[in-house]
Amino acid sequence: MTEFDLIYKLLNTQSQQRNDVLTGIGDDCAILSVPENHSLAVSMDTLVAGVHFPESASAYSVGYKSLAVNLSDLASAGATPAWITLSLTMPAADEDWIKEFVRGIFTLADEYNVQLIGGDTCKGSLSISIQAHGFVKKAMLRSGAKAGNLIYVSETLGDAALGLKSYHGDSAVDTTCIRQFNEPEPRVKLGLLINNVATSCIDISDGLISDITHICKQSLCGADIYLNKIPLSAAYRQYYNNKPDIMQALSFGDDYELCFTIDKSNKQHIDKISRETGINLTCIGTISTQSNVRCFNQYNEVVDITKRGFEHFNG
Ligand code: ADP
Ligand code: MG
Repeated sequence: MTEFDLIYKLLNTQSQQRNDVLTGIGDDCAILSVPENHSLAVSMDTLVAGVHFPESASAYSVGYKSLAVNLSDLASAGATPAWITLSLTMPAADEDWIKEFVRGIFTLADEYNVQLIGGDTCKGSLSISIQAHGFVKKAMLRSGAKAGNLIYVSETLGDAALGLKSYHGDSAVDTTCIRQFNEPEPRVKLGLLINNVATSCIDISDGLISDITHICKQSLCGADIYLNKIPLSAAYRQYYNNKPDIMQALSFGDDYELCFTIDKSNKQHIDKISRETGINLTCIGTISTQSNVRCFNQYNEVVDITKRGFEHFNG
């Protein structure tokens, strides 16, 4: 068996088999059938070892996270995930590593009824690209926010930032934060539930400030964020002895929570979704007629935000 035969064999072990996959792994193309009256939502994300995950991260969590960040993009469009392709570049065909990596991907894929339908495999520094495909009738976009809309985020921010610290030898980090960093839960179900009320939506990958700025630019508006409303976990507060590092929670990213906007009249509907799903949804500010993002402290003073989020080529 060649190295690649081994890899294909492992990639072909998924239990999840969808009947809209006419031909999956094994031919030149995957052949797929798209449901009538739906659009195809497509998104791709790449994770590079040492950049997006620590070199020492487990193969399982690398697989899990590679898929989670892609499903998170589909979630922010309000799409139902269906298929993924996988471009896998790795230095050697280490059977144990690949087995665990594939287990990480398939655990999440099976949970969301997603099938791996093809990909490509190369030798080189460890890097994983996944393209996710989903179906949507009407997608949520970044461009629909209107002045006066309320801005919401799901669950808590900043936990993944703490999770990374544990890889730098910080033993005070709570395991929930390490898990949030390694295995973020894509908010697919939430995306589907808010789709008919949200005027815009984005998933928080680069940090709230950076990501809300994308909404503002594409919606031609501004945002006023109230820092004392930013939802932080008990573990995050405890780590900082109740003086939490808000800037880090706003700018580190890797949260994969949804940030979305709604018309004020839909507030009760959002509260109901929160109650019914058990997912905390917090109003953190409002869309303004300004052209920028402003952050206010508890005294209603504007706070200067210097570090807006993770930028690959800019520090
Ligand atoms: P080709 O030379 O036509 O690109 P490959 O040998 O690269 O074919 O791939 C053979 C089959 O295995 C194809 O169906 C391809 O989609 C699938 N495949 C290759 N690499 C991966 C991967 N990393 N994940 C999923 N499927 C893969
Ligand atoms: Mg190929």
